[in-house]
Amino acid sequence: MRKLLIAGLGIAGSALLYLIKRSSISDIQVTACDVRFSPWSHVVCGELVPEVTCLKGKVPHNVYRSLLESQNIIMSNTKILKTFNRMMIQIGEVELGFSFKFYMIDKGLLIRTLIERSEDRCEMMLGYSVYRFERLKDRVRVYVRSRDGARAQIDADVVAACDSFPSVFYTSDIWRLLSNYEYRYLTCISCTAEMFETYTDPYIVIDPKICPGGYAWVFPKAGDLANVGIGFLTDNLAYARTCLEEFLRRFNLKALSRPLSKTLPVDGVIVSRDSRVLYLGDAGGFVVPTNGAGINPAVASAVLALDSDLDVRRFNSRVLSTFGSYFARLVEIRKMLDKYLSDPLLFEKLKRDVARNRIVLPFFRRILRDLMLGHVPPMCRIFISCIDSLVASFKFSSIREVK
Ligand SMILES: Cc1cc2nc3c(=O)[nH]c(=O)nc-3n(C[C@H](O)[C@H](O)[C@H](O)COP(=O)(O)OP(=O)(O)OC[C@H]3O[C@@H](n4cnc5c(N)ncnc54)[C@H](O)[C@@H]3O)c2cc1C
Repeated sequence: MRKLLIAGLGIAGSALLYLIKRSSISDIQVTACDVRFSPWSHVVCGELVPEVTCLKGKVPHNVYRSLLESQNIIMSNTKILKTFNRMMIQIGEVELGFSFKFYMIDKGLLIRTLIERSEDRCEMMLGYSVYRFERLKDRVRVYVRSRDGARAQIDADVVAACDSFPSVFYTSDIWRLLSNYEYRYLTCISCTAEMFETYTDPYIVIDPKICPGGYAWVFPKAGDLANVGIGFLTDNLAYARTCLEEFLRRFNLKALSRPLSKTLPVDGVIVSRDSRVLYLGDAGGFVVPTNGAGINPAVASAVLALDSDLDVRRFNSRVLSTFGSYFARLVEIRKMLDKYLSDPLLFEKLKRDVARNRIVLPFFRRILRDLMLGHVPPMCRIFISCIDSLVASFKFSSIREVK
């Protein structure tokens, strides 16, 4: 009998537990823990998921299949609060509308349902957080402690690290790898807000003055309520809070809950180097690098883990051949555009120079839309190079004019 520890019962952990319960696997004994007594009550999320069939032909086929399977799991375990057929993107002063189907789901309900439908399949340790782990010869020893200070240790043959980013289970060589590679993550801060202007569709704001290197969002939820937030490249939480307040003020929104923050990995998948630890969900970098969507990929990571029979080597190789290469392309393209989204001066130049070029403008819109939806835009590198040289040539001509 193998012993599995699921560390963290957010989307990825609860989906894995649910899938094990529904599978015919009988040789696994499961223990699951989460730092919270009710993991479903602490939702830091926009709760917006794309309709996967709209991605057919736009993302690699194996990614599409995986996301579609995850969508079925999500939809049969939660409630759709709203359906949208369009997304609006405001870039500077320009508003662009893109046809695409999205759902606003109840993420808390999803986690709760997945747990309640499978909790009899495991030993449940709610209110216990993992604070350390140790690699023994033939197993992993995990140290947990409860809110009231009680300590325990769990010996497992396999650990599914589903404790978000950064995971307690990152080994020193993974840390070194991430820091050498300057792995990027967003600091996100969000809350529920009352809207005093009508946003009928999900609304994204790209503007380095509001959120350098990231974006802000208003996702209408029910009536005049919306999930709102910002996510961008910073380590400074106080600054992120100030930016959120400014965003709420500018867009006429009133926070109804205390803003909560979380880090979100957006530089591609992170694979474990330990043969007994699998990284799932945010811990494994399962987040679409250009739009921050991680609900569906987190469930997909749980599906891949079970399909690999919780074998780390098999899991890593499947992850790299599906999400690994797909995310890597999106990261590469996003990095080409990052300089414009992080620097207000370059952003101004981009807006001005692209807006007056009738050939480049439609391609630029298309690239932007594709990246926001998680498509890999065809011929993208060539067009971004065109945009770079366009902006550079205007810079050059304006210097000459001054001379
Ligand atoms: C502000 C914000 C908005 C977002 N909006 C969207 C969106 O609209 N659509 C979308 O698709 N994605 C969105 N995402 C991303 C998405 O929420 C995540 O990618 C997804 O929830 C990841 O699931 P997970 O299970 O890996 O992590 P989580 O859902 O974060 O779950 C991690 C669990 O581990 C537990 N835990 C943490 N540390 C420990 C520990 N040491 N010991 C024990 N338990 C621990 C936590 O309590 C938690 O229950 C958003 C993210 C943020 C931060």
